[in-house]
Amino acid sequence: MPNNRLHYAKDGPAATAWGLLRDLKIQDFPIDPRCIATKLGIVVWERALPISCDGCLMRVGNAWGILVNARIRSETRRNFTIAHEIGHYLLERDTVKTSPLHQQFNTVIPEQNSTNKELQAYLQSEQRANQFAVELLMPTPIFSVDSSSHVQVGLPAITELAAQYGTSLTSTAIHYTRLSEFICALVFSESGVIRYFAYSEGFRKNKNCYLVNGQTLHPKALASRFANISYPNEFKDEVPLNYWCRPDQLKEKENNAESVDDNIIEHSRRIPRTKQIMSFLHLPSVFS
Ligand SMILES: [Zn+2]
Repeated sequence: MPNNRLHYAKDGPAATAWGLLRDLKIQDFPIDPRCIATKLGIVVWERALPISCDGCLMRVGNAWGILVNARIRSETRRNFTIAHEIGHYLLERDTVKTSPLHQQFNTVIPEQNSTNKELQAYLQSEQRANQFAVELLMPTPIFSVDSSSHVQVGLPAITELAAQYGTSLTSTAIHYTRLSEFICALVFSESGVIRYFAYSEGFRKNKNCYLVNGQTLHPKALASRFANISYPNEFKDEVPLNYWCRPDQLKEKENNAESVDDNIIEHSRRIPRTKQIMSFLHLPSVFS
Protein backbone atom coordinates (compact mmCIF):
# COMPACT_ATOMS: atom_id res chain seq x y z
CA MET A 1 0.00 0.00 0.00
CA PRO A 2 1.63 3.26 -1.08
CA ASN A 3 2.16 5.86 1.61
CA ASN A 4 0.47 8.57 -0.36
CA ARG A 5 -2.91 7.47 0.96
CA LEU A 6 -1.97 9.41 4.06
CA HIS A 7 -2.47 12.55 2.00
CA TYR A 8 -5.81 11.59 0.46
CA ALA A 9 -7.93 13.62 2.85
CA LYS A 10 -6.92 16.98 1.43
CA ASP A 11 -8.18 15.95 -2.03
CA GLY A 12 -11.86 15.79 -1.08
CA PRO A 13 -14.15 12.73 -0.99
CA ALA A 14 -14.40 11.97 -4.73
CA ALA A 15 -10.67 12.27 -5.48
CA THR A 16 -9.90 10.30 -2.32
CA ALA A 17 -12.11 7.41 -3.48
CA TRP A 18 -10.66 7.43 -7.01
CA GLY A 19 -7.11 7.63 -5.66
CA LEU A 20 -7.72 4.62 -3.43
CA LEU A 21 -9.09 2.54 -6.33
CA ARG A 22 -6.11 3.57 -8.45
CA ASP A 23 -3.56 2.73 -5.75
CA LEU A 24 -5.16 -0.64 -5.06
CA LYS A 25 -5.39 -1.27 -8.84
CA ILE A 26 -9.08 -2.10 -8.58
CA GLN A 27 -10.85 -2.06 -11.93
CA ASP A 28 -13.52 -4.71 -11.64
CA PHE A 29 -17.12 -4.06 -10.67
CA PRO A 30 -18.95 -4.53 -8.43
CA ILE A 31 -16.42 -3.11 -5.97
CA ASP A 32 -16.02 -5.17 -2.79
CA PRO A 33 -15.60 -2.69 0.11
CA ARG A 34 -14.84 -5.54 2.58
CA CYS A 35 -11.83 -6.45 0.52
CA ILE A 36 -10.74 -2.78 0.49
CA ALA A 37 -11.17 -2.55 4.28
CA THR A 38 -8.98 -5.63 4.68
CA LYS A 39 -6.29 -4.11 2.44
CA LEU A 40 -6.35 -1.00 4.64
CA GLY A 41 -5.92 -3.15 7.75
CA ILE A 42 -9.48 -2.51 9.00
CA VAL A 43 -11.39 -5.42 10.50
CA VAL A 44 -15.09 -5.66 9.60
CA TRP A 45 -17.49 -7.19 12.12
CA GLU A 46 -21.22 -7.74 11.90
CA ARG A 47 -23.28 -7.38 15.07
CA ALA A 48 -26.94 -6.67 15.80
CA LEU A 49 -27.04 -2.91 16.51
CA PRO A 50 -29.93 -0.56 17.22
CA ILE A 51 -32.11 -0.17 14.16
CA SER A 52 -31.16 3.52 13.76
CA CYS A 53 -27.46 2.67 13.36
CA ASP A 54 -26.21 1.17 10.08
CA GLY A 55 -22.62 0.92 11.27
CA CYS A 56 -19.71 2.73 12.84
CA LEU A 57 -15.96 3.19 12.64
CA MET A 58 -14.03 2.25 15.77
CA ARG A 59 -10.52 2.67 17.00
CA VAL A 60 -8.92 0.66 19.78
CA GLY A 61 -5.33 1.81 20.26
CA ASN A 62 -3.82 1.61 16.81
CA ALA A 63 -6.32 -0.95 15.58
CA TRP A 64 -9.31 0.02 13.45
CA GLY A 65 -12.60 -1.69 12.93
CA ILE A 66 -15.89 -1.20 11.17
CA LEU A 67 -18.99 -2.49 12.87
CA VAL A 68 -21.91 -3.23 10.54
CA ASN A 69 -25.46 -3.74 11.73
CA ALA A 70 -26.26 -7.41 11.09
CA ARG A 71 -29.97 -6.52 11.04
CA ILE A 72 -29.51 -4.88 7.62
CA ARG A 73 -30.84 -7.46 5.21
CA SER A 74 -29.79 -5.76 2.00
CA GLU A 75 -26.27 -6.66 0.87
CA THR A 76 -26.05 -3.43 -1.15
CA ARG A 77 -26.83 -1.38 1.97
CA ARG A 78 -24.26 -3.28 4.07
CA ASN A 79 -21.67 -2.62 1.35
CA PHE A 80 -22.59 1.07 1.22
CA THR A 81 -22.21 1.24 5.01
CA ILE A 82 -18.70 -0.25 4.87
CA ALA A 83 -17.74 2.14 2.06
CA HIS A 84 -19.15 5.07 4.09
CA GLU A 85 -17.10 4.09 7.16
CA ILE A 86 -13.95 3.69 5.04
CA GLY A 87 -14.68 7.28 3.98
CA HIS A 88 -14.70 8.42 7.63
CA TYR A 89 -11.44 6.52 8.14
CA LEU A 90 -9.60 8.07 5.19
CA LEU A 91 -11.04 11.57 5.50
CA GLU A 92 -11.11 12.08 9.27
CA ARG A 93 -9.18 9.41 11.10
CA ASP A 94 -6.63 11.87 12.48
CA THR A 95 -9.41 13.38 14.57
CA VAL A 96 -10.62 10.03 15.99
CA LYS A 97 -9.62 9.28 19.54
CA THR A 98 -9.32 5.80 20.96
CA SER A 99 -12.76 4.67 22.01
CA PRO A 100 -13.79 1.76 24.22
CA LEU A 101 -14.99 -1.27 22.31
CA HIS A 102 -18.68 -1.09 21.40
CA GLN A 103 -18.73 2.65 21.69
CA GLN A 104 -20.09 4.13 18.53
CA PHE A 105 -18.27 6.74 16.59
CA ASN A 106 -19.52 8.95 13.78
CA THR A 107 -22.97 7.47 13.70
CA VAL A 108 -24.22 9.16 16.81
CA ILE A 109 -26.54 12.00 15.99
CA PRO A 110 -25.57 15.01 18.10
CA GLU A 111 -27.51 15.45 21.32
CA GLN A 112 -30.46 17.80 21.38
CA ASN A 113 -28.49 20.44 23.24
CA SER A 114 -25.68 20.40 20.65
CA THR A 115 -24.79 23.71 19.14
CA ASN A 116 -25.62 24.53 15.55
CA LYS A 117 -21.92 24.36 14.78
CA GLU A 118 -21.67 20.79 16.07
CA LEU A 119 -24.73 19.78 14.09
CA GLN A 120 -23.33 21.40 10.93
CA ALA A 121 -19.99 19.62 11.42
CA TYR A 122 -21.80 16.30 11.89
CA LEU A 123 -23.95 16.76 8.77
CA GLN A 124 -20.95 17.83 6.72
CA SER A 125 -18.96 14.81 7.88
CA GLU A 126 -21.86 12.47 6.95
CA GLN A 127 -22.25 14.12 3.56
CA ARG A 128 -18.54 13.71 2.82
CA ALA A 129 -18.55 10.03 3.86
CA ASN A 130 -21.63 9.43 1.68
CA GLN A 131 -20.01 11.16 -1.28
CA PHE A 132 -16.90 9.03 -0.76
CA ALA A 133 -19.01 5.84 -0.68
CA VAL A 134 -20.84 6.78 -3.89
CA GLU A 135 -17.56 7.52 -5.67
CA LEU A 136 -15.90 4.36 -4.35
CA LEU A 137 -18.73 2.10 -5.53
CA MET A 138 -19.74 4.07 -8.67
CA PRO A 139 -16.72 6.21 -9.68
CA THR A 140 -18.06 9.03 -11.83
CA PRO A 141 -15.50 8.80 -14.68
CA ILE A 142 -16.49 5.16 -15.33
CA PHE A 143 -20.13 5.29 -14.24
CA SER A 144 -20.97 8.23 -16.53
CA VAL A 145 -19.59 6.39 -19.57
CA ASP A 146 -21.67 3.31 -18.70
CA SER A 147 -24.74 5.48 -18.05
CA SER A 148 -24.61 7.28 -21.36
CA SER A 149 -24.07 4.03 -23.28
CA HIS A 150 -27.60 2.89 -22.35
CA VAL A 151 -30.11 3.41 -25.15
CA GLN A 152 -33.04 3.78 -22.76
CA VAL A 153 -33.17 6.69 -20.36
CA GLY A 154 -34.31 6.33 -16.76
CA LEU A 155 -35.39 3.37 -14.67
CA PRO A 156 -34.45 0.54 -17.13
CA ALA A 157 -30.88 1.93 -17.35
CA ILE A 158 -30.76 2.56 -13.58
CA THR A 159 -31.88 -1.01 -12.84
CA GLU A 160 -29.12 -2.46 -15.04
CA LEU A 161 -26.47 -0.14 -13.62
CA ALA A 162 -27.48 -1.09 -10.05
CA ALA A 163 -26.93 -4.78 -10.92
CA GLN A 164 -23.62 -4.02 -12.66
CA TYR A 165 -22.25 -1.92 -9.77
CA GLY A 166 -23.82 -3.95 -6.94
CA THR A 167 -25.47 -0.81 -5.56
CA SER A 168 -28.98 -0.08 -4.34
CA LEU A 169 -31.60 1.17 -6.77
CA THR A 170 -31.91 4.36 -4.71
CA SER A 171 -28.23 5.36 -4.61
CA THR A 172 -27.74 4.34 -8.26
CA ALA A 173 -30.79 6.35 -9.34
CA ILE A 174 -29.60 9.48 -7.53
CA HIS A 175 -26.07 9.24 -8.96
CA TYR A 176 -27.41 8.52 -12.46
CA THR A 177 -29.82 11.47 -12.38
CA ARG A 178 -27.26 13.98 -11.09
CA LEU A 179 -24.80 13.00 -13.82
CA SER A 180 -27.35 12.75 -16.63
CA GLU A 181 -26.96 14.90 -19.74
CA PHE A 182 -30.75 14.88 -20.13
CA ILE A 183 -33.34 17.18 -18.57
CA CYS A 184 -34.45 14.83 -15.81
CA ALA A 185 -35.21 14.56 -12.10
CA LEU A 186 -35.78 11.83 -9.56
CA VAL A 187 -38.45 12.27 -6.91
CA PHE A 188 -39.13 10.18 -3.81
CA SER A 189 -42.60 10.65 -2.39
CA GLU A 190 -44.37 9.10 0.57
CA SER A 191 -48.02 9.35 1.63
CA GLY A 192 -48.66 11.69 -1.29
CA VAL A 193 -45.92 14.19 -0.38
CA ILE A 194 -42.53 14.88 -2.04
CA ARG A 195 -39.83 13.89 0.50
CA TYR A 196 -36.62 14.16 -1.52
CA PHE A 197 -35.49 14.89 -5.04
CA ALA A 198 -32.35 15.04 -7.16
CA TYR A 199 -31.96 16.49 -10.64
CA SER A 200 -29.62 16.88 -13.59
CA GLU A 201 -27.84 20.06 -14.61
CA GLY A 202 -30.23 20.37 -17.59
CA PHE A 203 -33.24 20.24 -15.25
CA ARG A 204 -31.73 22.90 -13.01
CA LYS A 205 -31.13 25.23 -15.94
CA ASN A 206 -34.57 24.83 -17.53
CA LYS A 207 -36.79 27.71 -16.42
CA ASN A 208 -39.96 25.60 -16.44
CA CYS A 209 -38.47 22.80 -14.35
CA TYR A 210 -38.49 23.02 -10.56
CA LEU A 211 -39.63 20.91 -7.64
CA VAL A 212 -40.63 21.82 -4.11
CA ASN A 213 -39.87 19.71 -1.04
CA GLY A 214 -42.97 18.92 1.01
CA GLN A 215 -45.23 19.58 -1.97
CA THR A 216 -48.30 17.35 -2.20
CA LEU A 217 -48.46 15.24 -5.34
CA HIS A 218 -50.83 16.33 -8.08
CA PRO A 219 -53.82 13.96 -7.86
CA LYS A 220 -53.42 13.04 -11.53
CA ALA A 221 -49.65 12.39 -11.39
CA LEU A 222 -48.96 8.67 -11.92
CA ALA A 223 -47.25 8.56 -8.50
CA SER A 224 -50.63 9.38 -6.90
CA ARG A 225 -52.12 6.13 -8.22
CA PHE A 226 -50.10 4.06 -5.76
CA ALA A 227 -52.36 5.17 -2.94
CA ASN A 228 -54.51 2.31 -4.21
CA ILE A 229 -52.47 -0.71 -3.12
CA SER A 230 -54.14 -3.05 -5.59
CA TYR A 231 -52.61 -1.11 -8.50
CA PRO A 232 -49.48 -2.43 -10.28
CA ASN A 233 -46.06 -1.45 -8.97
CA GLU A 234 -45.04 0.57 -12.00
CA PHE A 235 -46.49 3.18 -14.38
CA LYS A 236 -44.95 5.10 -17.27
CA ASP A 237 -46.62 7.74 -19.42
CA GLU A 238 -46.45 11.31 -20.63
CA VAL A 239 -48.12 13.72 -18.24
CA PRO A 240 -48.44 17.53 -18.33
CA LEU A 241 -45.28 19.13 -16.93
CA ASN A 242 -47.37 21.21 -14.54
CA TYR A 243 -48.47 18.05 -12.68
CA TRP A 244 -44.95 18.15 -11.19
CA CYS A 245 -43.71 21.70 -11.68
CA ARG A 246 -46.66 23.60 -10.28
CA PRO A 247 -46.58 27.39 -10.13
CA ASP A 248 -49.46 27.29 -7.59
CA GLN A 249 -47.15 25.47 -5.15
CA LEU A 250 -44.37 28.06 -5.24
CA LYS A 251 -44.19 30.80 -2.65
CA GLU A 252 -45.42 34.11 -4.01
CA LYS A 253 -42.01 35.80 -3.99
CA GLU A 254 -40.50 32.96 -6.01
CA ASN A 255 -43.41 32.83 -8.37
CA ASN A 256 -41.82 33.86 -11.65
CA ALA A 257 -42.79 30.65 -13.34
CA GLU A 258 -45.75 30.37 -15.67
CA SER A 259 -47.91 27.37 -16.29
CA VAL A 260 -46.67 25.67 -19.45
CA ASP A 261 -48.31 23.18 -21.77
CA ASP A 262 -45.31 20.86 -22.21
CA ASN A 263 -45.49 17.21 -21.35
CA ILE A 264 -42.95 15.31 -19.28
CA ILE A 265 -42.39 11.55 -19.21
CA GLU A 266 -43.12 10.18 -15.76
CA HIS A 267 -41.96 6.68 -14.81
CA SER A 268 -43.04 5.83 -11.27
CA ARG A 269 -42.30 2.70 -9.29
CA ARG A 270 -43.37 1.57 -5.86
CA ILE A 271 -40.53 0.62 -3.47
CA PRO A 272 -42.23 -1.81 -1.08
CA ARG A 273 -39.37 -1.86 1.48
CA THR A 274 -39.45 1.87 2.18
CA LYS A 275 -43.13 2.44 1.31
CA GLN A 276 -41.95 5.23 -0.96
CA ILE A 277 -42.65 5.94 -4.62
CA MET A 278 -39.68 6.64 -6.88
CA SER A 279 -40.54 8.77 -9.93
CA PHE A 280 -38.13 9.42 -12.78
CA LEU A 281 -39.14 12.55 -14.71
CA HIS A 282 -37.67 13.17 -18.14
CA LEU A 283 -38.36 16.15 -20.36
CA PRO A 284 -37.49 14.95 -23.87
CA SER A 285 -35.35 17.49 -25.74
CA VAL A 286 -38.09 17.97 -28.31
CA PHE A 287 -40.06 19.82 -25.61
CA SER A 288 -37.20 21.82 -24.13
ZN1 LIG B 1 -21.20 8.36 9.05
